[in-house]
Amino acid sequence: MIISSRKELEIILSSLKDFSNPKEILEQWMTPPDVAASMIWSAQEDLRNRLVADFGAGTGILGIGALLIGAKKVYFVEIDKEALKICESNIKLIEEMLEIEFNYELINDDVRNFSYTIDTVIMNPPWGLEKHRHLDRVFILTAFKNAEIVYTLIHYSKESLSFFEKLAKKHSFLMETIALVKFPLKFQYKHHRRPIKYVSAGFICFRKKTCC
Ligand code: SAH
Repeated sequence: MIISSRKELEIILSSLKDFSNPKEILEQWMTPPDVAASMIWSAQEDLRNRLVADFGAGTGILGIGALLIGAKKVYFVEIDKEALKICESNIKLIEEMLEIEFNYELINDDVRNFSYTIDTVIMNPPWGLEKHRHLDRVFILTAFKNAEIVYTLIHYSKESLSFFEKLAKKHSFLMETIALVKFPLKFQYKHHRRPIKYVSAGFICFRKKTCC
């Protein structure tokens, strides 16, 4: 499968199903197709022909994007069985639509238990803003243990940037901000008053230092 443009990727990703019953406690928000396509497009050199994991895969948009750009294999890691079912049907939908077969594995487990040697993690994890404070750190630390290249969306603030910079340094990773994104949080939970709220997100790449 040869994807020739970011737009083409976005169009294919637009056919994926969203969470049918989003769970607030798990901070389930699907990355919009335009944001996901931009992430995949800018990370493509680190995804093509690589072993990749999508942590907190949800309905699978990032991992499917990685497969479309030519990842060798993708591990979809998701704690919620219901979300992983949608993820599986999304993968099958794209396989049928494009008449291709992907190499992938679905792992229904807490990300903390993931232990495979892989090349790259691409993820939009829970940002740890609600019930589980700082869950994003758990995801990033697990990614550092398993991969040398980690792409992630983070909640963007001066404090979080400086925190992640220190964390990267401590674990011998270099941190680069690739893009700033206005992430739309759609009305989906009862207490939300507005149809959409935009939150500042940063698309970040952590790369293991190769020497000294
Ligand atoms: N990555 C998807 C979903 C983002 S929402 C996307 O970009 O569209 C975050 C996802 O992390 C949810 O699907 C949630 O169920 C999952 N999650 C939350 N805690 C988790 C944990 N401890 N281990 C694995 N997945 C988890």
